[in-house]
Amino acid sequence: MGVAQIVATVLAGVVTIVAVVLAVRAVMSMTAVIRQGKPDPARFTDKGTRTRTMLVETLGHTRMLKWSTIGAAHWFVMVSFMILFLLVLEAYFEVVDPADGLPLIGHWVVYGLVTELIAVLGLLGILYLIYRRQSDKNKKRSRFTGSTMWQGYFVEAVIVGVLICGFLIRGFKVANDTFEFPGWATPVSHAVGALLPAAHSGATWVALIKIFISMGWLITISLNVTMGVAWHRFLAFPNIFFKRSPEKPAGSGLGALRPMMSEGKPLDFEEADPEKDQFGVAQVEQFTWKGLLDFSTCTECGRCQSQCPAWNTAKPLSPKLLVLSLRDHAYAKAPYLLAGGGKDLTGEEKATAEQLKGVDVLALAEAERPLIGGADEMGVIDPDVLWSCTTCGACVEQCPVDIEHVDHIVDMRRYQVLIESSFPAEAGVMLRNLENKGNPWGAPQNAREDWTKGLDFEIKRVGEAEDFDYLFWVGCAGAFEDRAKKTTRAVATLLHEAGVDFAILGEGETCSGDPARRIGNEFVFQMLAQQNVETLTEANVKKIVATCPHCFNTLGNEYEQLGLKVEVVHHTQLLQHLVATGKLTPVQPIEGDVTYHDPCYLGRHNRVFEAPREVLGASANLVEMPRNSERSFCCGAGGARMWMEEKIGKRINVERTEEALATGAKTIAVGCPFCYTMIGDGVTGKGEQDNVEVIDVASVLLRCIKGDKAPA
Ligand code: SF4
Ligand code: SF4
Repeated sequence: MGVAQIVATVLAGVVTIVAVVLAVRAVMSMTAVIRQGKPDPARFTDKGTRTRTMLVETLGHTRMLKWSTIGAAHWFVMVSFMILFLLVLEAYFEVVDPADGLPLIGHWVVYGLVTELIAVLGLLGILYLIYRRQSDKNKKRSRFTGSTMWQGYFVEAVIVGVLICGFLIRGFKVANDTFEFPGWATPVSHAVGALLPAAHSGATWVALIKIFISMGWLITISLNVTMGVAWHRFLAFPNIFFKRSPEKPAGSGLGALRPMMSEGKPLDFEEADPEKDQFGVAQVEQFTWKGLLDFSTCTECGRCQSQCPAWNTAKPLSPKLLVLSLRDHAYAKAPYLLAGGGKDLTGEEKATAEQLKGVDVLALAEAERPLIGGADEMGVIDPDVLWSCTTCGACVEQCPVDIEHVDHIVDMRRYQVLIESSFPAEAGVMLRNLENKGNPWGAPQNAREDWTKGLDFEIKRVGEAEDFDYLFWVGCAGAFEDRAKKTTRAVATLLHEAGVDFAILGEGETCSGDPARRIGNEFVFQMLAQQNVETLTEANVKKIVATCPHCFNTLGNEYEQLGLKVEVVHHTQLLQHLVATGKLTPVQPIEGDVTYHDPCYLGRHNRVFEAPREVLGASANLVEMPRNSERSFCCGAGGARMWMEEKIGKRINVERTEEALATGAKTIAVGCPFCYTMIGDGVTGKGEQDNVEVIDVASVLLRCIKGDKAPA
């Protein structure tokens, strides 16, 4: 061991000890912050599925690969990061002896081949990601807008640096004739070696540089615990493991909303007490520990942002920036919380002055910030951000580390609505109508069956009919809203034509509760849902067909939380089945192309993409919009946005309508009464109502079967 090796070994040892000590401290501090969250016992179920899903999603990159080349490049970077760990370990042996390698496997030609291959592909991958970051970052409303760019550059530079060092070390070994792998297994290393001079300690010094770069990275991320772009390499594993629904292939936070929880238990409003139970989230520490883990894991990749309809129409909401604001706030407030600080449910400070004596003044100031509040109050999340969300789920769908944005947004809404009574005033009418009339429009209950007038066949009512196969859930829009009533009549006619035995609840039906739940009024949701659960249980309903994807989602996914498990299909699924089994036969395709707009609560939230397309494919020539299926763009009505004014930025329905019109289709088919209204209004707003028609999938099919005789 020469002088160079002794000096290099000492330096490598010192920097490594410093880095490891700081890393342990950082992990302990992150764990302490995450543990400030509320309990969430449901995250520990079914560990087998959780492990499988975590391995498939991380090692298989199932979410990232949807982004084709970027996903593939990131996969190689991830694998090379794992291999890098071995190469960095090897560097410690090379510092001591420049001709040495990793013990046990380090002399095996397969090791030489695999590390060489992965290093080359990892280098190409990271260079591609750097190129993409550079080319995307200046685009208008880029996915990187608001990301901490130096952190991304730093991580990318570290990976490039370590990989290049790896080739230089091997190159020096080649030049010194101490490299044991053949040229066919390590061609790049041999090529680099051909350019380098023979230098006995060359590999030692480069190995030391490699260790310095790696430990510099570890020190930097340890001093920046909110550096998600680096920490996600570790946190993505637990975050995916503890996702809400591990059995779901995509978007754990899609479909049902979580019930309102207090101390890890669902709240029942018959017993809930706002002085003892937590109603939604008013302070960052009132999120569950999984929420805080979500915020810590965000990689700042901006995929959620790039898909968000609010962000894409110049509204202040970006799901990425929302998550980053919550993360930064949680970590800045943490010293105060860890000292015992925090407010109880009545707003009183829990800690004594003595406990808070040593807390940093910045943490104390952070603790005073309201979670929801405008810039004048130094709020963490602006109310315009909170209320811009349509709960479309595009963010959840795209997030590679399974962050559950929609749950967090609705939890914050719940506190605002239930405790603060603070929400867009215009939505108050809808909530009052739900409470008093059982529907958002405030229409009289005895008008629920008006849509049946003029039909040339009888519709069974539950109660009158002894038995039926399907309950046809009409929904409030389907019963009261003029355009949606056409869909209701079309579906009823088609079911009748196909000989499906169905009945309706008529005046026994009330709103499913979706708009109340999405706006955050869990009390009204539970009231309506409970009433429907009792009605459906009494009627012994086993199968439901619904035309509204919001009802479809609520009845099928959320009533289970109130004890009702029932099979629910969307009308497009039932129609697809009836066409496929020959019970309905489209005879005359409609004129002109048809494009289909995926409703968020049918498509993304419930993965029904094919059934409506198959019905349309049998009835017309279907042309797709650029954003379709899981990447479809919201119409702007979800999340109770249907009942709020849209004052900021471009209207979401206009953005979507322009996309639909650009296909040149003569018909825009929808599968949701709210999409019907939004896209219909968009077409009228563009003055295209005489050229382009907006109708439901069911009406398209009915026309193909009945032609001009189809009821309007
Ligand atoms: S649910 Fe939709 S609107 Fe809401 S933040 Fe996510 S992408 Fe944006
Ligand atoms: S997609 Fe997920 S990881 Fe990426 S910025 Fe959004 S929340 Fe963060």
